[in-house]
Amino acid sequence: MTEFFITTPIYYVNDVPHLGHAYSMINADAFARWHRGIGDEVFFLTGTDEHGQKVADSADAASMSVTEWTDLYAQRFKDAWEKLDIAYDDFIRTTEKRHEVAVRKFLQALYDNGHIYLGTYTGSYCVSCEAYYSANDAVDGLCPVHRRPLIEMEEENYFFRLSAFQDQLVKWYDDDPTAVFPDFRRNEALSFIRGGLEDVSISRTSLSWGIPLPWDERHVCYVWFDALINYLTAIGYDGAGYERFWEHSHHLVGKDIIRFHCVWWPAMCMAAGIAPPQKVLVHGWLLVKGEKMAKSGGNGVDPIDLAGIYGADAVRYYLLREHALGADGDFSIEALEHRYNVDLANNIGNLLSRVTNVVDKSLGGVAPRATGNVLDFAEVKEHVDRASRAWSAFGSAQVLEEVQLLVRMANAALEERAPWKLRDANEIGAILGDALEILRLVAILVSPVLVESAPKIFAAIGLEMSAISSSYSQALEVGLYQGGMTIAKAAPLFPRKGQARAR
Ligand SMILES: [Zn+2]
Repeated sequence: MTEFFITTPIYYVNDVPHLGHAYSMINADAFARWHRGIGDEVFFLTGTDEHGQKVADSADAASMSVTEWTDLYAQRFKDAWEKLDIAYDDFIRTTEKRHEVAVRKFLQALYDNGHIYLGTYTGSYCVSCEAYYSANDAVDGLCPVHRRPLIEMEEENYFFRLSAFQDQLVKWYDDDPTAVFPDFRRNEALSFIRGGLEDVSISRTSLSWGIPLPWDERHVCYVWFDALINYLTAIGYDGAGYERFWEHSHHLVGKDIIRFHCVWWPAMCMAAGIAPPQKVLVHGWLLVKGEKMAKSGGNGVDPIDLAGIYGADAVRYYLLREHALGADGDFSIEALEHRYNVDLANNIGNLLSRVTNVVDKSLGGVAPRATGNVLDFAEVKEHVDRASRAWSAFGSAQVLEEVQLLVRMANAALEERAPWKLRDANEIGAILGDALEILRLVAILVSPVLVESAPKIFAAIGLEMSAISSSYSQALEVGLYQGGMTIAKAAPLFPRKGQARAR
């Protein structure tokens, strides 16, 4: 047993939850559930980023106080995560007092350590990102993310001496080649660092909606700088939670915020005198017809609508099965329906209903035990081991691929031996017992993804999932299904979708 601390980006309150956010959340939730399942002490953190000019402007435009505005929008994220069965341990809001305390303490440490100075900043600024872009990063004078014109700005700012950390950052990357996952994102961040770093402006005098700098309250902290510190706030910066969880930190982030998390943040930690995060996991974007998913782009797909139609399990399954962590992926309803109908309804769902049906009809409802006389349990064990290793290596797509291979083994044996045509109870029992064992193993392996269906599979084969919580490693030994209990034909887990639904 060990600790496992996983975080998602904190979402900007001006946005509404879209499938891109849901993709981050579902990945983090699945990793957290797997680690809980193997007995780790898990802390899963998410939340909302609530400072910055855009938030103040939006509240103003809506004739609301900023607090009313942020309360309303933070709640939208909480509601969305509930509908997608996300089980986080803490939801941080950057406007909370605990965060202000942590940020001021962190900033003071940077200042006392000599890593902050006052200077004048001139640069090209994107109002939407609340970030400056160098000439290299701008695309035809436009923000590379929003494709909007950049504005020339000049102001007196405090600066963080990021340039002084270039060598230390390179050393951090060299010392731990797995600190950023996957490899191609690591190389991207490292080559950016090797190309030379500029100091970054960390304060604004032009707005008041933010956290004042402890040594000069005319300035408020730049929204990105305060947001990053949330990861420390939530575990109790400098306290027992920090001692316990920080060295097990995993930040799951989208590729658009790689610079903040793979360059700034580790350097900020070094400057404050603490260790950089243990691991940064970078995922790609979900594209709709080649464009980034975003509400402002008009192509935002509402994850709640999808969960309403297909169920949260199907949305979770599709996103993790189809989009391995790292690369960009395309979202389409057709692909979602295909996964639903093929992987879930035809493969997993069908296996469960066929097996329970024949147990009911041919064996008087008494479940037979697994023997390994029909399926090759050595081969089953290989799939199970590969799936377990993939879970621990953040490879949820691989896990689900191994699961499908297991299901296919069982379905193929049923096709070949057609137990529904047989008379001999021993012969029928040998086939069904091994198939039941596959269902048991599959239910455990998919439980971080199919959070509603996995316990149903367990119940349908006469077992109780809560009995194995936190002991997945033992429960994944092959051949444990004892049988003997009475089971009935299971109700369909995944009724077919698609053809009947109006497009
Ligand atoms: Zn932008």
